[in-house]
Amino acid sequence: MKFDILTLFPEMFEGPFSDSIIKNARDNGIIDINLTDIRDYTTDKHNTADDYPYGGGAGMVLKVDPIYYALEDITDNFKKKSTNILLTPRGEKLDQNMVKDLSNKDRLVLICGHYEGVDERIRENFVDLEVSIGDYVLTGGEIPAMVIVDAVARMLPGVLGHDDSKKNDSFYNGILDYPHYTRPSEFKGMEVPKVLLSGDHQRVAKWRKKQALKRTYLMRPDLLKKTKLSETQKELLREIKEELEGVIDNE
Ligand code: SAM
Repeated sequence: MKFDILTLFPEMFEGPFSDSIIKNARDNGIIDINLTDIRDYTTDKHNTADDYPYGGGAGMVLKVDPIYYALEDITDNFKKKSTNILLTPRGEKLDQNMVKDLSNKDRLVLICGHYEGVDERIRENFVDLEVSIGDYVLTGGEIPAMVIVDAVARMLPGVLGHDDSKKNDSFYNGILDYPHYTRPSEFKGMEVPKVLLSGDHQRVAKWRKKQALKRTYLMRPDLLKKTKLSETQKELLREIKEELEGVIDNE
């Protein structure tokens, strides 16, 4: 899968894309990340990529022409198919479902704004999807672009050590992940739940399923309203509610 990132600050991506899982995914040819410096497509001698807003007011706006020329170049005169994403706080909020959808695309072009944002004509004419990573404002679209690349890449086959591991991750199936423990089994009096040491795979699987539901019920009950639970999960949820009511009654 190919990611093209249009940015004024390509060097910001060096660290996050040069280590660990994303580095391996690049080295193994599963993903290809191409960083395009918007400034390379400016047309004046000062390489001006931003300018004052028409109508006045504070802040600078990324100019339409360098972004247009960059897009034109990387898409071979708009002939190559791509999904063009503008990172912006007003966009559709990124969630795991959107990440899954994006992981089915062949090529994503991520346009990073800066300062007050990008000349609106880019959005009007060249953008398929506007994406926000949350209701807060960052200084630029670079960190949101990194978030998208990271989240989308780990959905692709071969990127994670165990492809199945993502299926238990939070949000993948609409609920949160179960708790994880590793050695030692006892540390300064803090013990790992006994069931995990039992070697009984069925009991472990049931415990994990129940813990995932319990966490979701306690921490993100909104998710349960949107998720279609299996009959087993419904039964476990009933048990959890009864157990919790028992705790409250005893208090
Ligand atoms: N004036 C803009 C507004 O209020 O919507 C904010 C511009 S912000 C300072 C500069 C750039 O950072 C934006 O153009 C966008 O690319 C990026 N950005 C900031 N917050 C973001 C968020 N929550 N999600 C995605 N991109 C964001």
